[in-house]
Amino acid sequence: MRALHRGVRQALRLGIARQGSTLRDYRLPNGASGGMQDEFKVYGRGGEPCERCGTPIDKIRVAGRGTWYCPRCQVLRAA
Ligand SMILES: [Zn+2]
Repeated sequence: MRALHRGVRQALRLGIARQGSTLRDYRLPNGASGGMQDEFKVYGRGGEPCERCGTPIDKIRVAGRGTWYCPRCQVLRAA
């Protein structure tokens, strides 16, 4: 839980520092793109090797949304 909390805070700080992510229509007030999309490790990287383990990134649909993940590093465990 502590590691998750630290990771979420770190991701939020980086997202603010990079001024958000421009995927389709989000823009800064001056029209420029955000820079957070360059930090994504799996989003939009289907078929590319995971930076951590080299397994190809997979894409599935979750609640109608495209969702990318590493099938080795991000295993769903039963609660
Ligand atoms: Zn991995």
